[in-house]
Amino acid sequence: MRLLPSLTTVLPFVASLSSATPVDLSTRQASSQVAVGAVINSCVVPGTIALTFDDGPWDYTHTLLDTLAKYGAVATFFLNGINQGSITSYSDILRRAVAEGHQLGSHTWSHPYLETLDHASVLSQMTLLEDEFVQIIGKFPSYMRIPYLSSNDAILAAMAELGYHVIGASIDTKDYENDDADLIWKSFEKFRQELDAGGSIVLSHDTHLYTVETLAENMLKEIQSRGLKAVTVGECLGDPAGNWYRTSR
Ligand SMILES: [Zn+2]
Repeated sequence: MRLLPSLTTVLPFVASLSSATPVDLSTRQASSQVAVGAVINSCVVPGTIALTFDDGPWDYTHTLLDTLAKYGAVATFFLNGINQGSITSYSDILRRAVAEGHQLGSHTWSHPYLETLDHASVLSQMTLLEDEFVQIIGKFPSYMRIPYLSSNDAILAAMAELGYHVIGASIDTKDYENDDADLIWKSFEKFRQELDAGGSIVLSHDTHLYTVETLAENMLKEIQSRGLKAVTVGECLGDPAGNWYRTSR
């Protein structure tokens, strides 16, 4: 039998509801201990590394998911609404990625330089994509990466207002400069060097063929040989999976 709560339990709850401010943003911030509105560049859980892939979803993303599965690894995808392709054309990729334990984050609706936009436009870059996420997977991310890693105080304040954890990078493969069979080794070498230097959040793009066909697998082999574990950004920050998404604003 379920006991009814006593009056002394109920009354303070009612009192706090009645004194709530009209606009309550606290619901956006869930129970996560991870900071909002400040750029996070490194994992905190020892022995973990977070591979992240920006600018998708795209035609190559399924292949990348196959490669990650082959190594028993999970990753984080920072997605756009419209970039190389339209997110609505790739809803199966989003559902597959979530089902296979990957984390989805926001990379804004259309990948603009956010500092060129006014406040309302920055907010709508986020909320437009939230609406699409809700249509496709029934929830929207609480993690994001700013396009071009190009931020300022106003953008970070807007992300704090929306309750977003802002992810930077401590290993930048610059894979977009080396998307060629003869050049991609440069990105892998940069990955190794920055890993040696203590980097742990890795930036690359699933919109580039040689990232998906060559770099990803080489990074996964290197991670394995070093005894590291490739996990999602949320996991490498010690944030439980229930905090990676929200269902209401
Ligand atoms: Zn990007």
